[in-house]
Amino acid sequence: MTQIIAIANQKGGVGKTTTAVNLATCLVASGYRVLLVDLDPQANATSSIGITGVTSTLYAILCGKECDVTPTQVVGLDLIPGSIESAALERELVGFENAETIVKSFLDPLIGRYDKIIFDTPPGLGFLTINALTTADTVIIPVQTEYLALEGLALMLDTISKINPAININVLLTMYDHRLKLAKAVEQEIRSKLGENIVVYKTVIHRNVKLAEAPSFGLPIILFDPSSPGATAYIELSREVITNESDTTRSRTRAGCDPAPRSDCASSDHASKDAIAV
Ligand code: ATP
Ligand code: MG
Repeated sequence: MTQIIAIANQKGGVGKTTTAVNLATCLVASGYRVLLVDLDPQANATSSIGITGVTSTLYAILCGKECDVTPTQVVGLDLIPGSIESAALERELVGFENAETIVKSFLDPLIGRYDKIIFDTPPGLGFLTINALTTADTVIIPVQTEYLALEGLALMLDTISKINPAININVLLTMYDHRLKLAKAVEQEIRSKLGENIVVYKTVIHRNVKLAEAPSFGLPIILFDPSSPGATAYIELSREVITNESDTTRSRTRAGCDPAPRSDCASSDHASKDAIAV
């Protein structure tokens, strides 16, 4: 069964795109077929993976002009590129019936082709983020470990529970600076205050300048600097995502729901950077 993951937080600059691109690539390195969908008109995920000047963008697809995915330099990772035109979608789709499921409807024919579909979403809680949250079965909320982080998180959790109460909610601590007492305090507060049904990943993404440099070379971190702490952290995160998904599937099966068969290629055993070619 395809897992659909939205990376979302209404707060800007918290590491959504960095997480979407690097998690997607690390999952490919573990043998998964992954589709990255760039829902952000800023198109940062698109440029971070080295794609420019493509016509088959999200906007073109939603307008019914083209419907194809763009292969990336990472074999096994396809992209639906973002573009600035998609900023106009909200206005253009006023009064359109089922506007909040338009992304889901174009994705439906593609779903069986991938093990994981990852949405990078824009800041704010606009139409495209709502589409992502409606379509996804899992949301990862990157939270910067800083003052006021919990306030923004509470709003995000409230919004998510209204849009898609069945979604699996996960929190990822990002841009962690171990030299700051504040970072540790925010981490403790988040880990102690969130309810049982919300996973706070054990993996924490520390500040690492290599993560900030990689996008300007159009490369994910495991290709840009595989030995960097940022690369290690995103590999660890991908392992946690894989393990949590298997646990969720197992508990669903135990509870008598439909078993969710895993794709043959979805084995974390063949985790290898060799799965990636530039
Ligand atoms: P937006 O809301 O604008 O879409 P975002 O939530 O997607 O932002 P990113 O673009 O991923 O955030 O990150 C914001 C900036 O911080 C970028 O310049 C990125 O390269 C940098 N960055 C992200 N994570 C880290 C990290 N762990 N260490 C250092 N720099 C980071
Ligand atoms: Mg972004």
